[in-house]
Amino acid sequence: MMFVETRGNDGKNPKSVKFSYAILNPSASFGGLYSPETLPKFDKDFFTRMSGKNYKELALEILRLFQIDIEERILREALDLYDKFDNKNSPAPLVKIKPDLFVNELYHGPTRAFKDMALQPFGYILSYLAQKQGEKYLILAATSGDTGPATLDTFENKENIQVVCLYPSGGTSDVQRLQMITAEGKNIKVIGIHGNFDDAQNALKSLLASNSFRENLKKQNISLSAANSVNFGRIIFQIIYHVSSYIELLKQNELKIGDKFYITVPSGNFGNALGAYYAKKIGLPIEKILITSNINNILTDLLTTGVYDVSKRELLQSTSPAMDILISSNVERVLFDKFGNQRCKELMSELSQNRTYTLSKNELEALREEFDAVYSDDEFAIKTIAKFAKEGYVLDPHTATCIKAYEKLKQKDIPCVICSTAEWTKFAPVMWSALQNNGKKQADKEALENFSKALNLTIPKCISSLFEKEIKHPDVVEKTQIEKSITDFLKGSS
Ligand SMILES: *Cc1c(COP(=O)(O)O)cnc(C)c1O
Repeated sequence: MMFVETRGNDGKNPKSVKFSYAILNPSASFGGLYSPETLPKFDKDFFTRMSGKNYKELALEILRLFQIDIEERILREALDLYDKFDNKNSPAPLVKIKPDLFVNELYHGPTRAFKDMALQPFGYILSYLAQKQGEKYLILAATSGDTGPATLDTFENKENIQVVCLYPSGGTSDVQRLQMITAEGKNIKVIGIHGNFDDAQNALKSLLASNSFRENLKKQNISLSAANSVNFGRIIFQIIYHVSSYIELLKQNELKIGDKFYITVPSGNFGNALGAYYAKKIGLPIEKILITSNINNILTDLLTTGVYDVSKRELLQSTSPAMDILISSNVERVLFDKFGNQRCKELMSELSQNRTYTLSKNELEALREEFDAVYSDDEFAIKTIAKFAKEGYVLDPHTATCIKAYEKLKQKDIPCVICSTAEWTKFAPVMWSALQNNGKKQADKEALENFSKALNLTIPKCISSLFEKEIKHPDVVEKTQIEKSITDFLKGSS
């Protein structure tokens, strides 16, 4: 399978590239992204054949369909990393919480958020490619709290790889911050910035696009790559767990092959939702992909009115920080897939020049065939957390927003699968205050203890041990200082 650029080709980059190229060099012409030129299709016996398979076997089948230029041995080794997830039968168990409502638990990996589902195997493959080519790579990641820890974990002490991770200071939970600033690998640098996630992501995008930065790295024989979901190497692994949720529904006799179901995704950068979109195109019978946002409801606006308008918005802080995003990068890949590279480029330039774009009526209709969207404010999320916890199921503040879509957007009497993107332990202060219904925020440590006692839950060691660990990365810098911090780190002076 070949990959092409969402904003067309500038004559300097190759016209189409293989998977390994796209993941090592994720920035495409005109600031675009690499996307599959064509998508494979499940054959008609696919689901029958998969019904007896486990997650890793299913994953391998799907990766084979994409015909990527990575040897099967490496793919298998990458998928073996799912063995260290804490759930025995599958890294992504499907749990029934109501007769027509299921939770795809995607947070059983080492950093307790769904980012591990993709970053564990992706990190393995990227390090393998770097070593095979004998090249050094600098991986840049901007995080709102979960990508950072998952990126640091997957690349820790990997040969030929250095990682710099930018996070918004004050924009993450204590647990998320500790996961990053206590990270031990020698090849790792974590930098807090005075700003929000969009600032961190913009800094990353401009470094990726900066010729002078790239030239400087070149002098040190270092190439640049990214671990955000702008990298297709992550997206490919995010197709698989949507398919696995359907296979689980079949195994649990909730559906027959061909029956449709809803998938609900709490969205930020739209990587998870894009995985569902590709799964649908490949032949997963999804009735509709239901998108939830929080009060930063730019995706809800886009998918209900056709207008994407950042010009009058400021990023608001919410109880679901991983969804506190205004520039949602992967929407671009859907626009490209639906409307082609010229139109995509036009819309993206409008966005960067005027901070807004408007889809035509037909374009909006085309998107609404695939998606519907709604948003949940903090009050709804908090009430939902308390209600479900008391009934016996714990939803983290991001996953809780999905209940809004389940209640408002699900029109047909068919199963609905919610993607659960984080374990409650990453957001304990919100969880405990929701349960107490008192609006008071405790520190993470006390809140973790109180919530786990109240509901008789265990806290995984990887979370409880964070509070005892040494802080390795105390730096918090101004936006203007980011490039210098990175350069200093590469010189070995920090
Ligand atoms: C990253 C993240 C999201 C948003 O996922 P996208 O793929 O960026 O839309 C939602 N919830 C949690 C907990 C996350 O870590």
